[in-house]
Amino acid sequence: MTSVFHRAPRAKLPVAVAGEGIEIIDSKGRRYIDACGGAAVSCLGHGNQRVIDAIKKQAQQLPYAHTSFFTTDVAEALADRLVESAPDGLGHVYFTSGGSEAIEAALKLARQYFVEKGEGQRRHFIARRQSYHGNTLGALAIGGNAWRREPFLPILIEAHHVSPCFAYREQRADETDAAFAQRLADELEHKIIELGGDTVAAFVAETVVGATAGAVPPVREYFKKIRAVCDKYGVLLILDEIMSGMGRTGYLYACEEDGITPDLLTIAKGLGAGYQPIGATLVSDDIYNTIVRGSGFFQHGHTYIGHATACAGALEVQRVIEEDGLLHNVQARGEQLRALLRAHYAQHPHVGDIRGRGLFVGVELVADRTLKKPFDPAFNLHARIKREAMKHGLMVYPMGGTVDGVSGDHILLAPPFICTATQIDTIGARLVDAIHDALASMNT
Ligand code: PLP
Repeated sequence: MTSVFHRAPRAKLPVAVAGEGIEIIDSKGRRYIDACGGAAVSCLGHGNQRVIDAIKKQAQQLPYAHTSFFTTDVAEALADRLVESAPDGLGHVYFTSGGSEAIEAALKLARQYFVEKGEGQRRHFIARRQSYHGNTLGALAIGGNAWRREPFLPILIEAHHVSPCFAYREQRADETDAAFAQRLADELEHKIIELGGDTVAAFVAETVVGATAGAVPPVREYFKKIRAVCDKYGVLLILDEIMSGMGRTGYLYACEEDGITPDLLTIAKGLGAGYQPIGATLVSDDIYNTIVRGSGFFQHGHTYIGHATACAGALEVQRVIEEDGLLHNVQARGEQLRALLRAHYAQHPHVGDIRGRGLFVGVELVADRTLKKPFDPAFNLHARIKREAMKHGLMVYPMGGTVDGVSGDHILLAPPFICTATQIDTIGARLVDAIHDALASMNT
């Protein structure tokens, strides 16, 4: 019996008792390689002494001070650091306690910005199908995953969805990347026109799609074209890098690789690397100045925003990433992992696509590789892979509904940035075994 209301109350979970490097150890002494960082969170692995010491020091000095009374040196230092490395024009940081809160802040900032500018008619949000932006009601409304939204539809705010930039599923065989990107940008433009150009507040997208589709990077030029459409209609661009940001793709901010700057950018997960719960919304100078010179007050706030101990942990995480040169390792090890899986699965009938950026890798499973036909969702292949992987001492983050929120299976890998080449080989080998065993279990 347990008093904890677990995510899946009928599941029997092992008890995690310790963490060491890239491994988590359970109460029976079993070790699991954390090849997904939980949910792309633990980017420094477990037990990083520098981060632990920084948290201890802050907790001893001052664990928390409410942000309506005080600021703290650690919050200021972390915000400065995030802004210094952010794309130009994102000059301010609104701290939160996690990802969904960062999205809620972004949506409300977008709305309040337009209210203060005298454009109160801007109320529509457009996002993409097969996206995930969090589980609070605002974030869930914006998200485009049918299965997650379905039970709550009657209580969600209105949101509109366009096609994702999902090359494996949506790009036509005879379509170049540029033509595909243009088609999607045109679709967004048509949606804005349909809603009324001056009634749309923002377009929201994950720079690299995470949980719902499995590490799907945009094709080149996609975000440049999207940025241009947003600019044409005065629509804000909100990029969600809660999963793909903070170094996961080999760049501190994933959109650096796409050569654009959003108006609002959300981060979480890797920001605190799991050592402390923390998220943030980076805000453009224009939005910040409009509010500061207008009402002078963002009508929002939570008790734990700017939490001193969380900021101290996140600040040290960021220092470790820079001082240990981990972004180079992310790129090299990510290439290694994709190359290894592509070589192994070059002819495999049930591995349709291997994709991603940096140490953010997706593997999509299909019943028929030529037709890209998904498995029957009743097989629950993704759940079988997770189960078999745990037996092999491997944590991966599989999900169903890859194609349309209902059918399709993928596995998300997001190993810690500290992984060595040998550890990547081990992850690859264990994953191959887990996929093999899961597929075999469907025939028994
Ligand atoms: N946005 C993206 C892209 C995510 O992957 C997630 C979590 O998986 C969230 C938002 C929500 O973050 P949190 O679970 O910290 O609320």
